[in-house]
Amino acid sequence: TRDPYRIWVSEVMRQQTRVAAVLGYYDRFLTAFPTVEALANAPEQQLMKLWEGLGYYSRARNLQKAAKLVAEAGAFPDTYEGLLALPGVGDYTASAIASAAFGLGEAAVDGNVFRVASRLEENATPISDVKYRRYLEETLSAVYPTDKKGCSDFTQSLFELGALVCKPRNPDCALCPLNALCRAYKNGTWAQFPVLPQKQAKREEKVLVFLIETPQGFCIRRREAGVLRGMNEFPSAVILDGETPENILNAWGMYEFTEVKRKNYVHIFTHIRWDITCVWVRTEYAPFDAYTLDEIEENISLPTAFKQCLGTINERI
Ligand code: SF4
Repeated sequence: TRDPYRIWVSEVMRQQTRVAAVLGYYDRFLTAFPTVEALANAPEQQLMKLWEGLGYYSRARNLQKAAKLVAEAGAFPDTYEGLLALPGVGDYTASAIASAAFGLGEAAVDGNVFRVASRLEENATPISDVKYRRYLEETLSAVYPTDKKGCSDFTQSLFELGALVCKPRNPDCALCPLNALCRAYKNGTWAQFPVLPQKQAKREEKVLVFLIETPQGFCIRRREAGVLRGMNEFPSAVILDGETPENILNAWGMYEFTEVKRKNYVHIFTHIRWDITCVWVRTEYAPFDAYTLDEIEENISLPTAFKQCLGTINERI
């Protein structure tokens, strides 16, 4: 497609997320919001529900902020600078839309392009090095075709070459149109490239997530701080040494409750690992707004870290 709206949505969904994980979301999103105007006018609840499970939820909010600006202006900006000024659009996304949708000679360097280019040159610079990205953008932009269709095709062929031929494991070098130029192929060193940044150790936190069941349903509240700020949650707390579920519930004004079940699971964020204990309790008094399971399923978006708690109820049933 050359539709900037569709390219933009796909690029934003692909940020930090595998393509295979994005496909279903992409189809559902475009069915619900087929135009940028539809996205601009979407109720937040519907938008977040469609994003549920995809993670990095600020992306969805930024998409809508930008959609409002585009709808107001009446069209997408058709320059790199104009695209870059939209909320949530960085260097890479602006280049991808500029070249794929508008045929501008802006090289878009994604993970696929890093893989192809670093193998071609046997370049051992870590891909997290900003100077390396700049170098590739400049080097590639210099050899871009001069016509619009050529630019769009060039960008998309580089993406496809990395995704389908120059794969992370077992690249199909014999079929690759660049094999005569490729140093990694010649020297059998493809497995050493690209050089990835060193992984940082994750911070570990112990977290209690409460399924508070009341006669009106299960309590949900909006997170005020920390990771997933602004998202819905089953009330939760990071626990300090010696703190018990009772301490936390008492702090929320709950003294009369019966525990039904507990379940442990782990949720991994980019920089944090949560060791979660889900505690299901029943009480007459709801310390937060409560919703039925049907309402939660249909209307309330819950990040995966909390949604997994629902398994505790399903197992019990
Ligand atoms: Fe990648 Fe092999 Fe092509 Fe080199 S020859 S760019 S390693 S697929």
